[in-house]
Amino acid sequence: MSDCLFCKIRDGQIPAKIIHRDELCLGFEDIRPVAPLHVLFIPLQHISSTNDLSLEDREKVGHLHIAAAKVAKERHHAESGYRMVMNCGRDAGQSVFHVHLHLLAGRPLGWPPG
Ligand code: AMP
Ligand code: ZN
Repeated sequence: MSDCLFCKIRDGQIPAKIIHRDELCLGFEDIRPVAPLHVLFIPLQHISSTNDLSLEDREKVGHLHIAAAKVAKERHHAESGYRMVMNCGRDAGQSVFHVHLHLLAGRPLGWPPG
């Protein structure tokens, strides 16, 4: 997708603080962090939202969670805890239409979310 912000970050056309990269996903710091650790994990392949997922995507999407858990553990949040969130659509406040998993950690996270 030529006009997708996260595809541009993936391709190095827009700078980001890269935290994790492997054959299926990229993890980078959120530009407006809402927790001391706030990393976004995207599949390398463009998928607009979770509405567009099919069974073919299960490895790509499952992999985001495994990569996020690895980073959470490396940053010493395994014991204190962390949250993984995917927003979809208007009511959830999705603002970038390339599937991404938020990893949030480093403070108590309220529940239910706003
Ligand atoms: P969502 O609202 O779930 O679609 O999340 C999109 C996230 O992307 C927000 O938390 C933004 O702060 C973040 N974001 C927007 N632009 C950038 C950027 N250039 N680099 C890193 N994160 C960004
Ligand atoms: Zn994209």
